[in-house]
Amino acid sequence: MGLTKQKKAVLDAVMSPADHPTADEIYAIAKVTIPNIGLGTVYRNLNTLCSEGIIRKIEMPGGPDRFDKDISPHDHMVCSECGRVIDFQVDMGDLKDRIEERGFKVLSHNVQVVCICDRCLAKE
Ligand SMILES: [Zn+2]
Ligand SMILES: [Zn+2]
Repeated sequence: MGLTKQKKAVLDAVMSPADHPTADEIYAIAKVTIPNIGLGTVYRNLNTLCSEGIIRKIEMPGGPDRFDKDISPHDHMVCSECGRVIDFQVDMGDLKDRIEERGFKVLSHNVQVVCICDRCLAKE
């Protein structure tokens, strides 16, 4: 079975230029294509797309989950003022060595750095 109309609209919304959208933002975008789509349908399709590995869910401390069209391993800078989420790559470097020295094996990492972004700083 291919993509249902709803699932395609949800996927298209995640792929839209809105970077790391929340479920509410995805709902608003999907509604343009399917005006009668329900929020429950959007959530259900987001969960399916995540478990199929097509998109990635980013859990935000103290905020709604975001969804990422880029499923390759990468880290995020999160602006505490405007909520902007920016991709970047943390070099695990000696952090990995320090963890493995203690007898652990690093499988993956997912770093979130909370910051105030350049745009918000410029406003102050
Ligand atoms: Zn900001
Ligand atoms: Zn990302």
